[in-house]
Amino acid sequence: WDNFTNSIIDESAGVTFGEINRFDAEQLSLLKQILQMNFFRIFRLNLFKECPFWSGSSGFCTDRSCAVDTISDWKDLPDIWQPEALGALANVSAAPKVPNDQNKDYCELDEINDETVFVDLIENPERFTGYGGDQSFQIWKLIYSENCFNLGHDQCMEKNFFYKLISGMHASISTHLSHGFIDLKTKEYGPNLQQFMFRVGNFPDRIENIYLNYILVLKALIKLESLGILDSLEYCDDDHFNQSSTEIKVELGELIKPSYQLGNDKETCLFDENGLFQSSNAAEIKDEFKVNFRNVSKLMDCVGCDRCRLWGKIETIGYGTALKVLFDLQDTKNFEPSRYNISNVELVALVNTFGGLSKSIEAVQEFKSMYDKALIEE
Ligand code: FAD
Repeated sequence: WDNFTNSIIDESAGVTFGEINRFDAEQLSLLKQILQMNFFRIFRLNLFKECPFWSGSSGFCTDRSCAVDTISDWKDLPDIWQPEALGALANVSAAPKVPNDQNKDYCELDEINDETVFVDLIENPERFTGYGGDQSFQIWKLIYSENCFNLGHDQCMEKNFFYKLISGMHASISTHLSHGFIDLKTKEYGPNLQQFMFRVGNFPDRIENIYLNYILVLKALIKLESLGILDSLEYCDDDHFNQSSTEIKVELGELIKPSYQLGNDKETCLFDENGLFQSSNAAEIKDEFKVNFRNVSKLMDCVGCDRCRLWGKIETIGYGTALKVLFDLQDTKNFEPSRYNISNVELVALVNTFGGLSKSIEAVQEFKSMYDKALIEE
């Protein structure tokens, strides 16, 4: 950890972990304020979509005892502490029918139908749910197996990038569940250093991948801001929203603009998206990359815990949107920001994914202090 602060996150980024920590800490209260806005905190999705890879429970153990291998004495606990209850969602309301903005790039957005719901993300934070056992292990295994590109040469950069992206997403989820871990004595949620070390802290590459995802998503936001796309978007101005479009635009600008100073390479600015998909078979690699990432996003409908599925869906849409902005958005001479096709669902997912990564970076600092303190006390 100590070596981290002054070292560079990634060759192409030219930014240190310490710089990101400082930037994140400075922007934290503004980011939290943005995530409190109704526009960003209410998410529309279908939580009841069929898993497209297998039907019902075939191939997976859905027995309660299979889903609970993280705590050994679950069965003795009252119902409210069972994984089904911990992973349930609070206050889900039905969504009115609105036109569907289907997108088939790096992930699939849910169609609007009778099963579409609205969820308040502040009321349903990503934290420990008890979801585990064979099913979650198999899903993670399948997600990592999407990294198996069929390109005939093993070490392509895109394949490494895909792995780091997934590993960073996994590490961020693990950080959140360790930071909001349940204490069975007090019945309170709080940070659990042992869980964090076991899942993330003992693996420096996993921490690094959280930071890589942070600069990836931040770079996508920078691109949207600098091309005037955020400014040209339609944000809802009706009674359901507690902020006007103008306020949303101003606050997003204030969040993103200071990051232009980060890193020492102003050309590439944090993350050099032009370093990827450049080889002679780039188009083929990109297509395969998209298909594989789309499969990861579809796998979220197979996650057997509502709250885990909610955040899994938000994060895959968020990363899918970042990939679409970085790799498919061509800012040609006559680029017209208002014609860029990004839906509100994608933007809300992108900003919440950034919020989740920021929360992970804050949690990593807290766990580091806990770790240092435990060392002194030893
Ligand atoms: P897992 O986290 O299941 O990991 C499986 C294996 O993957 C590990 O043994 C290790 O070899 C490898 N691995 C682990 N982390 C990384 C990494 N960062 N990079 C590379 N390899 C790695 N549980 C909750 O309590 N709350 C949630 O919100 C939640 N959301 C989830 C969302 C999804 C999409 C999925 C699939 C699961 C979710 N879970 C959640 C379950 C949680 O992620 C774990 O699967 C569960 O806690 C069991 O943990 P585990 O120790 O068996 O290892």
